[in-house]
Amino acid sequence: MTPNDSETVRGDCSFCGETVTRQHAIIHYETASGEPGVWAECPDCGEIVDPVNAQ
Ligand SMILES: [Zn+2]
Repeated sequence: MTPNDSETVRGDCSFCGETVTRQHAIIHYETASGEPGVWAECPDCGEIVDPVNAQ
């Protein structure tokens, strides 16, 4: 697969620590500062997390 840094959302679930990637994203939004954000469903525990801003 070809990496696409601008599209890839990757972070850790704040509940269980599982890696959450773009493929798990369910909601895309834009922050007050104009930065793209995403809510994603953790593949392990199923919690909805924000892997980008959790880092
Ligand atoms: Zn999790």
